[in-house]
This record gives sequence, C-alpha cells and structure tokens, in this order.
Amino acid sequence: MDWVFVGASTIAAQHMLNAVRQQPGHNVTWIVSNSPERVQVWADDHGIACATTNLSEALSDPKVKAVYISSTNEKHHAQAMAAISAGKHVLCEKPLGMTQEEAIEMVRAAEAADAVFGTNHHLRCSGSHRAIRDLIAAGRVGQVLSLRIHHAVHLPGNLQGWRINDAGAGGGVIPDIVVHDADVTRFLLQEDPASIVAQMASSGMGQGVEDSCMSVWTMPSGAMVMTHESFTHPFAGSGLEVHGTHGSIFAKGIMTQSPIGDITLVTEAGQENISYSDHDLYVQGVSEFVAATTGQGRPAADGPDGVKSLSVALCVRKAAATGQRVDVDYGGF
Ligand code: NDP
Repeated sequence: MDWVFVGASTIAAQHMLNAVRQQPGHNVTWIVSNSPERVQVWADDHGIACATTNLSEALSDPKVKAVYISSTNEKHHAQAMAAISAGKHVLCEKPLGMTQEEAIEMVRAAEAADAVFGTNHHLRCSGSHRAIRDLIAAGRVGQVLSLRIHHAVHLPGNLQGWRINDAGAGGGVIPDIVVHDADVTRFLLQEDPASIVAQMASSGMGQGVEDSCMSVWTMPSGAMVMTHESFTHPFAGSGLEVHGTHGSIFAKGIMTQSPIGDITLVTEAGQENISYSDHDLYVQGVSEFVAATTGQGRPAADGPDGVKSLSVALCVRKAAATGQRVDVDYGGF
C-alpha cells in the first residue's frame, strides 16, 4: 500500500517513516510540504520518490491508499478533509483539529466515506500502558480510586518553535500533551472524564501560550484524576500512578515515545515488578491502522478517540481560563 505523508515534520522523520516501512508491502511514496525547497531536500534525505507542495497532486495518485498527516495543528482539518474526499484512509496526528467542530467534521466525513480514520495516540500502543490497563482490568488494584499522571517534560530545543509561540498553529502544552493524557486516562480507566478544574501558566518558555498546566478530572465511577503537563521541567521525569482499594501501580518513565520505564504493583502481598512487551509504539500503531484498512479490527485510537481527547483538552483550557469547574462536552460522541 502506498502512503502520502503530509508534513515534513520531526515526528514523521524520527518515527513514522520507519513505522510505515516496517509494514510488509507498505511504502511512503509522497511527501507534501508547504516549502518547495524543504520538500525536495526532505524527500532526498529520506528516500521518498515524489515531493510536492500540492496536496491534490499527491492525492490524485491512484496507487495511494493511505495518508498520514503530521503538519502543524491548524492544517490537520483541511488536509484530512481533502484526503477523505479523495477516497483515502487517514491516520492523523493529535490534536485532530483546532476546535471540536473541526475534529467532528473530519471523523464524520471518514465514516460517510467508509474510510479508516486513526488518531496517532502512541502511548496506548505501548507495552507498558497495555500492561497497566490489563492489571486494572484484571482487578489487581481493586476499585480504582485515583490516577495521577506526571507529564512535565523539557521541550527539546529543536521543537521550541510553533509549540511555544504560535497559538494560531495550535501551540501550547494543552493541545500538545493534555490530549495524550486524556487518551491515556480513557484507555486505562475505560471511561470518559466528566468534569474538570484546572490552572495553566507560562513558566519561562511559552510566549502567548501556556507552557504548563495542572488539572483535576472527575470520572463517572467517582475516581479522581490529576494531571501535570509542562514544557519546562528538565529533570521531573514522567510517569503515572494508579491507586485502588486493593493495590497501587507505580509506573516511572513511561510517558514517552520509547518502549521504556518501570512498572511496580504494590499490594498486601508485597511488591511485584511488572514486565511488558518492548515493541516500538509507532510500528504497533501503524500495524493496527493497516489491519483496520483490510477489515481487521480498528485503529489503536480511532476518530472518536481523537474527538474525545481533544474535547478533554479544550475543556481543560476553558476551566483554566475561567477558573470554573467545567463539564466535558463530547459533541455527541
Ligand atoms: P515539526 O515542528 O517538526 O513540524 C511541523 C511542521 O513544521 C512541518 O510539517 C513543516 O512544515 C514545518 N517544519 C518542520 N521543520 C522545519 C524546519 N526546520 N524549517 C521550517 N519548517 C519546518 O512538528 P512535530 O513533528 O513535532 O509535530 C507535528 C505534528 O505531530 C503535530 O500535530 C504534533 O502535535 C504531532 N506530534 C505527535 C506526536 C505523537 O507521538 N503522536 C509526537 C510529536 C508530534 P511543512 O510540512 O509545510 O514543510
């Protein structure tokens, strides 16, 4: 199956080209960028046959069946709509759009066109997160009382562009990282956050957008979730903790793009180190997307998952901006 990559981006170069090329019979044949100079250099550097600044040209290639979108966030909607109109399957980066309306329109269009639509939430593809989900589902911690997510990182210098200074491109830690934490929460607890209180700040990096955020979410089961996201924390490390009536899970270093980190389950019986698969997160995500295009299963995170993670992030921003507790509106999903 041939793919178009839309966006000459870091994530495409570092993870997604490899993830597609690991799928037997799959190839990235087009790269689409807004810059005529960059797009040819990118194609040459990464061994891609066709380079263009014209998305329609790439989409008109009949051999192309799938499109991966990793442009800046404000471009996702129009590019996804064009790809769906051209009859392609779409794997789109998070956040799906700038607004909930954009995301819903994309997902509904894909449904109407019978196209597979995936959201590239990589964390739920990791062996670590899947092992934690399995522990919870097997009742090893009893009834979940709380989830704490620590996702305050230091944005690498090469990514300190639109993310920290361009609200119009979708900058800010909330659209960037809160969407992932929303997806992780939904994946682990198998329920959708109901209401949110939050605060956000610019703590040295954000220029006109927030670079740090803390929030507390209420879950329908009564469980409480607290999350901390930031671009400005060089040494905080990442992780999550799940606390239940019969046990606690301590997972260190797992909010990452690599299959790393340690998971410990603590119960009355003592401490147990939890092993997990160390497969590549992005290869796994693409393989599940590819399987869905052949009628097997669904993408690891599908369109409604992307709408919901964006809905939670937008609610966090609204709660932080207003100082009010806000109920999450999922737009009918
Ligand atoms: P980048 O900043 O690397 O790329 C985004 C766009 O910026 C590119 O499409 C490109 O535009 C332009 N660009 C990139 N590098 C340069 C450069 N050196 N000079 C000029 N322009 C440049 O973004 P990311 O790869 O970090 O993120 C892209 C998308 O992927 C975002 O939506 C983000 O949220 C998502 N993402 C998801 C991750 C995940 O794990 N799921 C991880 C990281 C990002 P053009 O194509 O027009 O040339």
